Amino acid sequence: YYAAVSRDPGRVPPAFLPDVEGAETPVHEVKRKGGDLRYCQKCGHYKPPRAHHCRVCKRCVLKMDHHCIWINNCVGHENYKIFLVFVLYAVIASFYSMILIVGSVIHSAPKDEQLSSDSSRTLIVSTLALFFSYLACCMFI
Ligand SMILES: [Zn+2]
Ligand SMILES: [Zn+2]
Repeated sequence: YYAAVSRDPGRVPPAFLPDVEGAETPVHEVKRKGGDLRYCQKCGHYKPPRAHHCRVCKRCVLKMDHHCIWINNCVGHENYKIFLVFVLYAVIASFYSMILIVGSVIHSAPKDEQLSSDSSRTLIVSTLALFFSYLACCMFI
């Protein structure tokens, strides 16, 4: 999680120029489709393919996937693998906690007398774990 939060998602190199004829002269128009020159007017430089400007980070990010509010960082070229592994770990951890909850319910149910408060707590926790497992699994897929 820390690596996903702290790793820079990838900056456009300051000296980046598209490898086409006429790139030396500044192009101020923005062409989004067709592989033409793409220029970010906010950052003031050319954008390589798949680089996009993030409004939250206020800069262009290489191979930008999305800005993730959970890690308060963009997911891009430099931290894509870290983000994917982080989501995979979240899926594993949430399923593991579901197994622990089910195991504790099976283990403690017959002998406990104070079932009312315990079972309501277990119900809340297992509902949250199920919900989070579902979300994390969908995100990973
Ligand atoms: Zn930009
Ligand atoms: Zn961002």
